[in-house]
Amino acid sequence: MHTITLVIIIAVSLGIMPAFVAMQKGRSFLKWWVYGTLAFVIAMPHALLLDRGLRLAGGGTRACGFCRMKVSISATHCPRCGHEFIEF
Ligand SMILES: [Zn+2]
Repeated sequence: MHTITLVIIIAVSLGIMPAFVAMQKGRSFLKWWVYGTLAFVIAMPHALLLDRGLRLAGGGTRACGFCRMKVSISATHCPRCGHEFIEF
């Protein structure tokens, strides 16, 4: 009985760590706390990798495959020739 309580307390405490990391990156603290409590081993590296994913999506440019114009990596089509980018 006491062992179960102890395991729950440890899980909830560990869950705060990925929740705190995710919150600093603009994510929901409560959702990540639940996620971290239920699957700490997955949630912790996931939370740490969040920032890198955002940086890749936010900044950076790529060349249009049709006219070679530099466009934002988040653009769905080329502003010059209208070429549509297909996500892989
Ligand atoms: Zn183009």
